[in-house]
Amino acid sequence: MIKKIEHIGIAVKNIEHSNELFKKLFGKEHYKVEKVESEGVSTSFFLLGDTKIELLQASSDTSAIAKFIEKKGEGIHHIAYEVDNIDNEMERLKKEGFELINQQPKDGADNKRICFLHPKTTNGILVELCQEKTK
Ligand code: ZN
Repeated sequence: MIKKIEHIGIAVKNIEHSNELFKKLFGKEHYKVEKVESEGVSTSFFLLGDTKIELLQASSDTSAIAKFIEKKGEGIHHIAYEVDNIDNEMERLKKEGFELINQQPKDGADNKRICFLHPKTTNGILVELCQEKTK
């Protein structure tokens, strides 16, 4: 089951500059930064109620964020939905005809197991499913 929007991911060129910009916008600081080496990204997170904004900056030229910015410029990169059971949801959505980008859940930022759905099957928006890892 999809529970709620967990976060919105925004691709930025310079995460330090954007941290300052979003600090002014929200009137509060980001609460964490995290590098996800496997994805070639640096991230920072702002908490707004029980939803988050994730800023993503490429840390390598070959990362998906670098390619996204090259093609489309800065902006909304993905919408992440919290699910109660990511394995079940991946199975369900595959049966519904959505294309999974990764066939197994992988480790994402912020202590999550994640999976992406290809934007060509979701009206052009990259969808992330995420489930908090049990500690
Ligand atoms: Zn995300």
